[in-house]
Amino acid sequence: MERALIKIHGIVQGVGFRPFIHRLVADCGLRGFIKNTSSGVELELEGERAALESFMERLPREAPKLAVIERTELRFTDELAGYPDFRILQSKTEALRDTLISPDIAICGDCLRELNDPADRRYRYPFINCTNCGPRFTIIKDVPYDRIKTSMGSFPMCPDCDREYHDILNRRYHAQPDCCPDCGPHVFYLDGEGREQAGDAITLAQDALARGEIVAVKGLGGMHLACRADDPAVTERLRRRKQRDEKPFAIMCRDAACARRLCHVSEAEEALLTGFRRPIVLLRKRESGMEHISENGFIGVMLPYTPLHVLLFGDRFDALVMTSANLSDTPILKDNDDAVEKLRGIADGFLLHNRDIQTRCDDSLCWCLGGAEYFARRSRGYVPFPVKLEGCPGGILACGAEQKASFCLTKPGYAFQSQHIGDLKNMETFEHYAAQIRHFERLFDIRPRTLVCDRHPDYLSTAYALERAEAEGLRLLQVQHHHAHLAACMADNGLAGPVVGLVWDGTGYGDDGTTWGGECLVGGYRSFERFGSIRPIPLIGGDRAVKELERVAYALRREALCPQEKNENYERMLDASLNCPLSSGMGRLFDGAAALLGVKSLASYEGQGAVLLEAAATETAESYPVVLEGEPLRFDWREMVRAMETDRLRGVPTGEIAGRFHNTLVRAAVGQCLAAREKTGINDVALSGGTFQNMILMHKLPAALEEEGFRVWRHRRVSTNDEGLSLGQAVIAAAMEDR
Ligand code: ZN
Ligand code: ZN
Ligand code: FE
Repeated sequence: MERALIKIHGIVQGVGFRPFIHRLVADCGLRGFIKNTSSGVELELEGERAALESFMERLPREAPKLAVIERTELRFTDELAGYPDFRILQSKTEALRDTLISPDIAICGDCLRELNDPADRRYRYPFINCTNCGPRFTIIKDVPYDRIKTSMGSFPMCPDCDREYHDILNRRYHAQPDCCPDCGPHVFYLDGEGREQAGDAITLAQDALARGEIVAVKGLGGMHLACRADDPAVTERLRRRKQRDEKPFAIMCRDAACARRLCHVSEAEEALLTGFRRPIVLLRKRESGMEHISENGFIGVMLPYTPLHVLLFGDRFDALVMTSANLSDTPILKDNDDAVEKLRGIADGFLLHNRDIQTRCDDSLCWCLGGAEYFARRSRGYVPFPVKLEGCPGGILACGAEQKASFCLTKPGYAFQSQHIGDLKNMETFEHYAAQIRHFERLFDIRPRTLVCDRHPDYLSTAYALERAEAEGLRLLQVQHHHAHLAACMADNGLAGPVVGLVWDGTGYGDDGTTWGGECLVGGYRSFERFGSIRPIPLIGGDRAVKELERVAYALRREALCPQEKNENYERMLDASLNCPLSSGMGRLFDGAAALLGVKSLASYEGQGAVLLEAAATETAESYPVVLEGEPLRFDWREMVRAMETDRLRGVPTGEIAGRFHNTLVRAAVGQCLAAREKTGINDVALSGGTFQNMILMHKLPAALEEEGFRVWRHRRVSTNDEGLSLGQAVIAAAMEDR
């Protein structure tokens, strides 16, 4: 007999860890206690040495999915305490347990088995869940996390469910949303006019989909619009009705095998697809077809993540379009009545249920890079799980950017970043944003002392921060956009800095009042220097050039002295610098190149030029001349533009030119980093900003930098685009307070 003293550090509170330990201890035949501490949990266990070792071995393997075990300390002693049983001790430091709220988790294997088992009392029940799966964040109204404070509060448990709930050895022990057909919510089907239809709701929805209709389906964090993915005429109708002419749709596949028929799926990608978080994974298309789903080289694919989705597929569909149900960039619809009203004329039917969605949470969207998520949108399945930040103080509210808005609140050691919010320019979205900030503050018991926001005077997030700081007498800090990107990437990787930061995006408010976005910064959390950039591009007509890409191409040609048909209007504007603001945004250079090559001249969604240029590019080793000069060290793209024009006129294939364009940017970036290292001795390069959603760059640039001996860091836990910005703002504010 021996006694083991065990300390487990990490995120192990509020994730079902203690009941898990209780079951494992019982299984191993041990006695002792567990209690929460400020950094994790502490255990004392007594029993046979072999049983203790078996416990330690099973612990990391069988721990709850959300638990993050960072470090375990283990000490054996033969001084026995003689524990009679196993106890969960209540400790004084319960603060963190109350802090952590689980994200929504996809249906688990056990529940899936029961769902398909005719003998089970939850056979084909669309709301089956357990301790390891089901809705969480999206149904919580308030803390502490108890059934009564969730959407399940209006569904009292039946005796059978209640028994499971109170049995610590049952896999539904303390599963707040636990329910069954006797006591839980139910589904129903409405026609396009909102009239309830008689019959089995799921069969009605399946029949409608099979007929080629568009069906609104209520999911975990909002409604989807679903339709067959295999019929271009159907998706065409959906595009028309939703006024989404060209933007790719996400699809849901029945299983990984179906996904594999449409896309290339690596082992790591399959693990993401089938994992418990179930994001939409951007997969490389197979050669033929699916142009009606996505016009670029990738398709966003997810697998069914609720029992309702599983039942909806049955064996009748391989793939369905599943696009967020919202109107022109307003937040995703979540309430039944609202959906029926707003989707009139868009949805032919509604598969709904009576479990309310408290909190919107869109599907997460990522690539699989280096075997793990690389986020374009971090939302369902991830939020509101925190990013652990050693030494970070609490009480900071970072207000984020504007278009891909998110916010971030801190508690000591943790940063809680919000779900995808959307474009704040929209009134409903802004209200959603403000309401979610208050919701997070209440859920995590955070009263901000410091507000931090962008320096852009027109961002609505800036206005929010300014107003609130004034009204509540809070400290306010404004942070330069690309500095926040740099800090976000540092914090994402736990770097102390300083680093060289390549921050490439479309638009950000620069310290000199112009628009930045092709930046090579040197610095850390507290300060930065603009070491390099790109030659600014005059945007003819300002914002109009962000849509009308041929305006950018015109400016590029003119600056590069390439012959072109004169546009008198543009010439006048450029000559007089009239409404032609300068931008060093990398996104604009992509836009201009896309228009130059005839890949895209009129963008219908943000980033479309860059996305299509990436899709058009073919593999090549060639590149164009790189000219770097001045201070800041600017990449002068005029030589490149001239060479591109020459190639184009010579009839070099567009894909080859697009490939060379990408390679040229990689070489320019490496050149800047080498110069920065020469001057500062810094060998770490952080990549951040929306342009790094380009997978050609993400494969070639790190490789090229590593070849020069750099250590390269990119985002891992938050999005590389503006959604990740709030984390950077928060850590900059933390560093400033620290001083
Ligand atoms: Zn389950
Ligand atoms: Zn029940
Ligand atoms: Fe940005």
